[in-house]
Amino acid sequence: MTENNGLGPSLLRVQDLETFFTLRKWGFLRVGEVRAVDGVNFDLREGEAVSIVGESGCGKSTLAKTILGLQQPTGGSVHFGDQVLDTSDRRQMDWYRAQVGYIQQDPYGALPPFMTVRRILEEPMIINGVKSSSERWQRMEKALTELKMTPVEEFLHKFPHQLSGGQQQRVVIARAKILDPQLIVSDEPVSMLDPSVRVEILELLRLLQRDYHVAVVYITHDLSTVRYFSERIFVMYGGQLIEKGLVEEILRNAKHPYTMALLEAISDPDPENVNTFKKVPGGEPPSLANPPAGCRFHPRCPYRIDGTCDQKPPPEFTMTEQHRVSCWLYGDAS
Ligand code: SF4
Repeated sequence: MTENNGLGPSLLRVQDLETFFTLRKWGFLRVGEVRAVDGVNFDLREGEAVSIVGESGCGKSTLAKTILGLQQPTGGSVHFGDQVLDTSDRRQMDWYRAQVGYIQQDPYGALPPFMTVRRILEEPMIINGVKSSSERWQRMEKALTELKMTPVEEFLHKFPHQLSGGQQQRVVIARAKILDPQLIVSDEPVSMLDPSVRVEILELLRLLQRDYHVAVVYITHDLSTVRYFSERIFVMYGGQLIEKGLVEEILRNAKHPYTMALLEAISDPDPENVNTFKKVPGGEPPSLANPPAGCRFHPRCPYRIDGTCDQKPPPEFTMTEQHRVSCWLYGDAS
């Protein structure tokens, strides 16, 4: 079931979403499936930023692609405003893609190497019917100025390889917002950048989100960056969202053992605690082709309840109106 987050009008609603991939032998014999996104529910309100946090391979990038309409869901639905998205409906997808910006992880790979910054920014406007060249110019100038790429004329004639990694990512952000989208999906936007520019890029993204009241889904494996960026955190594990809540609530009062482990794994800046660096519990993240029965975290969980956690998938339990957790420590399994 989809929750009512109680925070305002919903822009994006993800309901019982499933994205499975069929595994085949010899190209035709079905031997199983990868359950990359498995029963995901959430609401995103207008202008809100949420972070989806999890280890590599937990399904968060597939979730991003499914929200973007780049991946056909195998179950459930994605609602945008009052529309249910249908990836086979080309007209709807053309409209939807003008409402949603996408910021990829690898800025160099995301930018066509043979196009100048000007062409990269103009192309989506031309495709989406911005006919006036003076309007296109104004939008480009505004976007690049907001992203601190000035003098604008100097950057417009450059090719991606003539820019630094941070500048390339600013161009990706400029392209994502050039059509004034209602939603931006940002998949690990700073993980390939130097640490010195990560905070600056995140701050710019946050400013744009607030100034333009654009909703953002921020996908990351780095829990230490979400405090600066989002109103709510969703923690993902094994293709499922296992804890959801307001940022301060999750950072101060996490309930799920996996979230607690992720928080403990953030290095402590206090020099007194320099030797207290802790790790996420041993063991591998679950195989999405053969996930464990019951709670998917149970093989790694120090608190597992034998006979329950290894047999019954925990439902979502409500801690407070905004804080939900899928863990048998907070509910009755009988
Ligand atoms: Fe650990 Fe059980 Fe909670 Fe899963 S349901 S996180 S195994 S205590």
